[in-house]
Amino acid sequence: MIQRTLVLIKPDGVQRALIGRIIQRFEDAGLKIIGMKMVWVDSDFAKKHYSEHVQKDFYKSLEEFITLGPVVAMVIEGVYAIEVVRKLVGPTEPRSAPPGTIRGDFAHMSYDFSDSKGIGLKNIIHASSSEEDAKREISLWFSDDELHSYKVVHEIHSMG
Ligand code: ATP
Ligand code: MG
Repeated sequence: MIQRTLVLIKPDGVQRALIGRIIQRFEDAGLKIIGMKMVWVDSDFAKKHYSEHVQKDFYKSLEEFITLGPVVAMVIEGVYAIEVVRKLVGPTEPRSAPPGTIRGDFAHMSYDFSDSKGIGLKNIIHASSSEEDAKREISLWFSDDELHSYKVVHEIHSMG
């Protein structure tokens, strides 16, 4: 039940100075950050991270987007963390993401607008979408010694 998931605050979130407010949402939910760093990825690394999308029409614009500035990468741990983090993040398209979600509250971009401009869908954040993806993405972004085991004070309430 306790899972780890990879979260990236994408270059648009970093450049819009949303790092603190986004991290706050995960901490507020009682999730634990067990690794964190700022990274400016290159094209090769982007292809590894988004390997499932490399062949797609939108990949060129996605790569331009994810490499346009540094991202904040985090590993978040908690009970069903993969599912819970995706719930807090909201659906891929900010236009359709409900209020209360990170994508719904901090962005409003649509697929058709991004496509008409030939730019990536600026949606603030990435979160792993399955246990398999989380495992692959965490080992791509973090070495074992960059991940930490420690107790947060509210674990007594949220995790027994
Ligand atoms: P992420 O993997 O970044 O967490 P996601 O899992 O919600 O997002 P994916 O389908 O994996 O969505 O797409 C990866 C990213 O590619 C999206 O977050 C978005 O930035 C971009 N993207 C997806 N579809 C399109 C599209 N049709 N046009 C432009 N960009 C797109
Ligand atoms: Mg995805």
